Amino acid sequence: MRLRTFESFWLLKNGLLYTYPTLQKNIKTEILLIGGGITGALISDALMDAGYKVTLIDCRDIGLGSTSATTSMLQYEIDEPLKDLAQKIGEDGAALCYQEGIIAIKDLKKLVTAKKIDCGFKMKKSLYIAHNKKAAKELHQEYEMRKKHKLGVKWLEPDAIKKNYGIVSQGGILSETAASVDAYKMAHELIAFNVKRGMKVFDQTEIKSIEDQGTTPKIITKENHTITAKKIIFCTGFETVNLLKEKVAELIYTYASVSEPTQTYNKNLENILIWNTQDPYLYMRTTDDGRFLVGGEDSAYKDTILQQNIKEEKSKMLIKKLKKTLPDLDFIEDISWGGVFGTTKDGLPYIGKSPEYKNCLFCLGFGGNGITFSTQGRKIIVDLLQKKENTLAQYYRFGR
Ligand SMILES: Cc1cc2nc3c(=O)[nH]c(=O)nc-3n(C[C@H](O)[C@H](O)[C@H](O)COP(=O)(O)OP(=O)(O)OC[C@H]3O[C@@H](n4cnc5c(N)ncnc54)[C@H](O)[C@@H]3O)c2cc1C
Repeated sequence: MRLRTFESFWLLKNGLLYTYPTLQKNIKTEILLIGGGITGALISDALMDAGYKVTLIDCRDIGLGSTSATTSMLQYEIDEPLKDLAQKIGEDGAALCYQEGIIAIKDLKKLVTAKKIDCGFKMKKSLYIAHNKKAAKELHQEYEMRKKHKLGVKWLEPDAIKKNYGIVSQGGILSETAASVDAYKMAHELIAFNVKRGMKVFDQTEIKSIEDQGTTPKIITKENHTITAKKIIFCTGFETVNLLKEKVAELIYTYASVSEPTQTYNKNLENILIWNTQDPYLYMRTTDDGRFLVGGEDSAYKDTILQQNIKEEKSKMLIKKLKKTLPDLDFIEDISWGGVFGTTKDGLPYIGKSPEYKNCLFCLGFGGNGITFSTQGRKIIVDLLQKKENTLAQYYRFGR
């Protein structure tokens, strides 16, 4: 019998790395940051760098939201192709959003290196493959536009892709800049780093109400303690849809499966992230401990106990599709899991001020490259707090 779990691989691999006290009294802070996932970890670190006094709270333990489920492909490529995004927001804006993705990945590398954050961060390339001839034609147009905007791309013919990586495709775009990371470990280690330099963290601290109409916003916890702050920053992930009237995201469910670590595969695969043109797309990569990971098979979001059965079916489908793409890979599944995922109308995140909350800012890195967006949020949030111009902020604003 093979016993499986619904817990994600990253949580099982790392366990609960650090725990923090729950809030037991009323406190005052300069910035209250809500959410201890990868976004909260990145934003609180930027706020600490900028010299703010920060208190971070989470209603769960650190990293137990989507951050423990993410497959952590760090891509500059937005779910919305550049040529389609250009139709929606203009070519200059679309190119800027793509270019900022490249900068964000490089910034993240600098951050983990400078602060010695042990999280399996590895720079890679990204290979976006066409799953059929019609898709290849469109993908080539996408390549031409990315080339025009100097996004570090190369077109690879099907033979070259097969020869280098063993992947069956109809051609694809090879991009210079991408990376992978263990986001769960990164969130924990980065928060622990900032606790050492004075950040306060309270986990298992749930909010009962938010009062933001005065000059000093405050929240009241379920235990009836008050946190008064000058500003509140929400890094509350996909659950934020419950706090907003504006429909910022469509929630879906997405699935992933990881192999045993003893897998033999073409070593060139270790240096790339792979995704394809199917809808929903299939994506894959190796992990830093020698496993192969595949994800995709998005389905409608249902908060139901049946999700466990659906997950079993989805992981079978993922492996079937993987075998078509990489016929020589003998994938032996170790762990599979699913998680909530949010897509936006233009593939872009929501970062900034919502008119629904007076003294608050939000960093909601929705979409397939949420972690890259959250990295971009570091500068945007600090700029907004310091009332500085930020060109990118207009594309990620609420009410757009
Ligand atoms: C299977 C899967 C694969 C994915 N693959 C990728 C990928 O390859 N690349 C990528 O970039 N992204 C990927 N994502 C998306 C990625 O997981 C998210 O973008 C990212 O984890 C979001 O992090 P976060 O910190 O914003 O949210 P979370 O990790 O959910 O953190 C939010 C935190 O806020 C807390 N919180 C929420 N509401 C409250 C409240 N009212 N009071 C107190 N605390 C609260 C939660 O407990 C949680 O810890 C994937 C997602 C899934 C499910």
